[in-house]
Amino acid sequence: MRIIVQKFGGTSVATAEGREAVLRRVRQAVQDGYATVVVVSAMGRQGDPYATDTLIQLVNSASAEVAPREMDLLLSCGEIISSVVMAAHLSAHGIPAVALTGGQAGIQTDGNHGAAQIIKVDPTPVLNRLREGLVVVVAGFQGVNAAGEVTTLGRGGSDTTAAALGGALRAEVVEIYTDVDGVKTADPRLVAEARTLSVTTYDEIAQMAHYGAKVVHPRAVEIAMQHRVPIRVRSTFSDAPGTLITYSAEAGVMWSEPFADRIVTAVTHVVGLAQVVVKTGRDWATPRLFRRLANAGISVDLISVSLESSAFSIPEQRAAQAEMILTELGLVDLQVRHGCAKVTVVGSGMRGRPGVMATVAEALYAAEVPIWQTADSHVTISCLIPASDVQRAVQALHDAFELSKV
Ligand code: ADP
Ligand code: ASP
Ligand code: MG
Repeated sequence: MRIIVQKFGGTSVATAEGREAVLRRVRQAVQDGYATVVVVSAMGRQGDPYATDTLIQLVNSASAEVAPREMDLLLSCGEIISSVVMAAHLSAHGIPAVALTGGQAGIQTDGNHGAAQIIKVDPTPVLNRLREGLVVVVAGFQGVNAAGEVTTLGRGGSDTTAAALGGALRAEVVEIYTDVDGVKTADPRLVAEARTLSVTTYDEIAQMAHYGAKVVHPRAVEIAMQHRVPIRVRSTFSDAPGTLITYSAEAGVMWSEPFADRIVTAVTHVVGLAQVVVKTGRDWATPRLFRRLANAGISVDLISVSLESSAFSIPEQRAAQAEMILTELGLVDLQVRHGCAKVTVVGSGMRGRPGVMATVAEALYAAEVPIWQTADSHVTISCLIPASDVQRAVQALHDAFELSKV
């Protein structure tokens, strides 16, 4: 059985036009002889009745404390509604389909509500339906833990569902359909002339996704990489070929761009950060402060530690809590800077190439964007900057590395 997994994001399933486009895609896959698994996200964005953000808002506005378990029960409904609507739409148009929740589709997770990891996928329930000739529509973003409790996989997690099913079912390809025509050299909302990458490696896309390119979830890329299932990211609404994500030039893929010559492949960004700079002074303070933050579940990034002080970034919404924790430790010489963003240049071609940081610094200086902190790895350079400058910074870096040119 040749299996394909097609995942459709929130905007693709939100409107009648989108659902027609989904129907066309699924019909094509079935006509091409594929046993077809469809993974859907909740319908629409903030404000749409069953969108994930709307469901979150629903309980937030009731100002009630909702336990993580209950929150997952609520959020999972968005995708379940979407799967039933889509299965009904397909069936009504001559493509017999069945809707399954993540749990019913065999997706088992750990118990970390709100950010659960998939630990196992039992392919049997989906395979059985495929063998009956049905298209299987799976609610994305969710699974069940060992106790049978519903869990969700973190924002953007329907991509992860698709990749995990693709791996477990040994699918030929996982297609991620979204509202842009592939993975681009920057978020097209910020850089209009961002170019679509025609082919790239798991590694590079995983880096881009970790550093903020939310077009595909980093976990999805990692799972696809483990199972060596290719991913194609493409638009629901256009016939552009999109971006093929695969493992290496040796895979027999004909590269359509000078893959090895790219120094920087893309510019990514993350907003909603705060920077903490704290004077430590005493050697016990550094391990203790990071341990306390970790115990509170606050993840730190852009970490820079010296003998006298530590600087790092944290999600903006955890800033007040972090400040309290540090103050309780007696670390009162403390600065919290709100409204930060992180811009990152990503490229596996930058390994060992001098001059990348020089270009970053020159571009941001010319664009009058202050650099508050930096961090780098062998394939990334990140700068913490004011969130209000993020568009200018991403555009400047995109121009400096000439990313709109092939
Ligand atoms: P979906 O609901 O289909 O999963 P998402 O909103 O999660 O869609 O992801 C698609 C969005 O990702 C696009 O609308 C785009 O603004 C954003 N995006 C950010 N970085 C990139 C990038 N490098 N390439 C393409 N899109 C990007
Ligand atoms: N609906 C979930 C979210 O908005 C999952 C997803 O869209 O992938 O994060
Ligand atoms: Mg998404």
